[in-house]
Amino acid sequence: MDKISVSDARRAEAVGRHVRLQGWVRTRRDSKGGFSFIELNDGSCQGNVQVVAPGELANYESVVKHLHTGASVRIDGEVKASPAKGQATEVLAASVELIGDADVNTYPLQKKGHSFEFLRGIAHLRPRTNTLGAVARVRHQVSISIHQFFHERGFYYVHTPVITASDCEGAGAMFRVSTIDPEAPPKAEGKVDYKQDFFGKPAYLTVSGQLQGEAFACALGKIYTFGPTFRAENSNTPRHLAEFWMIEPEMAFYDLTDNMDLAEAFLKRIISDAMTYCLEDLKFFAEKLENNKGLFEKLENVLNNGFKRVSYTEGVDILLKSGKTWEYPVAWGVDLQSEHERYLAEQHFKCPVILYDYPRTLKPFYMKVNDDGKTVRAMDVLVPGVGEIIGGSQREERLDVLESRMREQGLPPEGYEWYLDLRRYGTVPHSGFGLGLERTILFLSGMANIRDVIPFPRTPGNAEY
Ligand code: ATP
Ligand code: MG
Ligand code: MG
Ligand code: MG
Repeated sequence: MDKISVSDARRAEAVGRHVRLQGWVRTRRDSKGGFSFIELNDGSCQGNVQVVAPGELANYESVVKHLHTGASVRIDGEVKASPAKGQATEVLAASVELIGDADVNTYPLQKKGHSFEFLRGIAHLRPRTNTLGAVARVRHQVSISIHQFFHERGFYYVHTPVITASDCEGAGAMFRVSTIDPEAPPKAEGKVDYKQDFFGKPAYLTVSGQLQGEAFACALGKIYTFGPTFRAENSNTPRHLAEFWMIEPEMAFYDLTDNMDLAEAFLKRIISDAMTYCLEDLKFFAEKLENNKGLFEKLENVLNNGFKRVSYTEGVDILLKSGKTWEYPVAWGVDLQSEHERYLAEQHFKCPVILYDYPRTLKPFYMKVNDDGKTVRAMDVLVPGVGEIIGGSQREERLDVLESRMREQGLPPEGYEWYLDLRRYGTVPHSGFGLGLERTILFLSGMANIRDVIPFPRTPGNAEY
């Protein structure tokens, strides 16, 4: 008797095998013929396996006929070819053992549709739903594809710190780290105790591993980070979290065009792997989510065509000529908002867009200044349905220009000395970008809210679990 997964039991090759399955009951239906159907799921795939529990089982009346949605069970039986449409196999049970019951009056995931908002309130149980299960599997595959993509191309995975004094200027508002001193007398409200900082010095949760990543790229050549990232986003949009996961490759001797080429190949690889290894889950998203029928067409379109590369200046021109009225008015020099980014990708070009050469005033000090003196070698990748998914740039490798940019932005050189050293000693042109993992999952799945594509979302006021 082999323990196998539901995923394996659903394959035609399993027919004839005597197996043990362990999982959770999705539904039970009693047939007039004196037997029951149990739809069993163990998280290994989107679908369930249908178990036929015959009336002859010793505990048929006492246990099987009382199995509820959510109960955990162990089932031994034989895999048979299924006469029913839409499934290759079913399992004829020789024994059904109840492991843990789920009270039908209190278990919240009874067989009916639940809103995503409701599910957010039961974040510990929602991975048992079809949708959140699919999200978790796709997220896993995307993470694996990311590591494979870089590994195959000779990049090293570098672990940048989570606690840092470097604030990666401009990336976003930061959470400050403090130490709780159990001996300290209680402080008056609003008073900050110096000792309660990071051992006496201010420190923050990282908003980006880029600056530290640059140090390793300027030694190992090509590196990437992949870790949790924190931003005190107090904005409650469907695209921002206070804690999210970011992938940040950084490459020595790469210019902005090399950077764009890499970003495009990277996204295409993530999509094509998901379409190969997560087909069942992607089909589920296409069928079950609102306005998502075109999911496969959208993904195929991304795979089969080049991303449109357009300068910020051209992008602003298109927006100005669009005849649309915007919530945030457009003019050269303003930061583009989600409505503008989505218009360019969704309506104008109908494909991913790489917008590059942004006004220097909009972007952080470390981006390389173009010869025009007005723009920097920044790039954002914008995709339909989401807007910005990647932000990146060629970095400023000239010490004097970097220093003058820091002065221009009012940054004290103290604290950045180590970063300036990278330009003092053996400086090289280099580039990199950051991809948001959750935004990638939004794009791949067609899910609407970023809170539903991360296991335990952190948003203002929400750090339960
Ligand atoms: P936005 O303009 O959408 O706020 P950003 O320009 O602040 O994003 P970057 O600093 O360029 O973001 O970070 C790189 C990538 O990280 C973004 O393109 C996005 O995919 C992701 N990202 C940034 N902020 C968040 C967030 N608060 N929650 C989830 N993902 C984020
Ligand atoms: Mg932001
Ligand atoms: Mg942005
Ligand atoms: Mg950005």
